[in-house]
Amino acid sequence: MTPGERAEALVFDFGISSPSELDVEAIAYDAGMEVRYEELDGCEATLVGVRNQAIATIRPSGNRGRERFSIGHELGHWNLHRGKAFRCRVDDLSENLASDTRLEKEADSYAAHLLMPRSLFDPAIRSGAKVPTFKHIEEVAQAFEVSMAAAVIRMAEVDSLPVIVASYSAKGIRWRAAAPHVPRRWRLHQTLDDDSFAYDFVNGSKDQRCSGKQPAEVWFSNDEADKYEVLEQCMPGRPGEVLVLLYLKDTEMFEAPFESSAFGRSYGAKGGYVGRAR
Ligand SMILES: [Zn+2]
Repeated sequence: MTPGERAEALVFDFGISSPSELDVEAIAYDAGMEVRYEELDGCEATLVGVRNQAIATIRPSGNRGRERFSIGHELGHWNLHRGKAFRCRVDDLSENLASDTRLEKEADSYAAHLLMPRSLFDPAIRSGAKVPTFKHIEEVAQAFEVSMAAAVIRMAEVDSLPVIVASYSAKGIRWRAAAPHVPRRWRLHQTLDDDSFAYDFVNGSKDQRCSGKQPAEVWFSNDEADKYEVLEQCMPGRPGEVLVLLYLKDTEMFEAPFESSAFGRSYGAKGGYVGRAR
């Protein structure tokens, strides 16, 4: 089982049927992990375990979503990586996407699945309009007591909708997550195009629009991007960053043949990477 599957199996074992029942501290306690809140120096959370008992210490942040994610993350370490002690610097999936440590990613995935199990999260996301809006996702994030970044990333992961989410600063992209059924050949620009709404957000322009249609070339560097349109929504993210939600409304973007010259790579009919072109 993957870390995510293990977390969801635990939620299933508890017979949890609504987000309000996802009491992460009670779930942790049941697994022998006590949660304490204390100031920590240089990290967000720590885990120390002896035999079948562990103590997770969480730095109080005043943000319940962050704290809950940290608890889920440490519970992931406790259930997946027993026998090790951890000092974790981050408590939010959006930050850890930039990190490449395998164990940290596993703990993040565990936390995301534990706090937003597919069986509850997918119907909640779909209960909004056909095209997802940040307003609806914010409501879902509140119901699940998770941060907005964690919720949008999970929304992409559960693959219900043709979306790509990303966070950019004025310098460029910080992280991205795409629904698995979106062909991987669609490459986001590394820096914001000045025609994007997101560009106006991070550059503090007065004329801020937060959603609407865009030519796909505003967002993607593929040659054929000028043939399509996407829906762009943006909202302020962490300080200096903008959170972007792209909805790929043109179904042709999922079918179009690929120009195989880019990066010298070749891709299969479904857009999956199949190795270097000769
Ligand atoms: Zn960790």
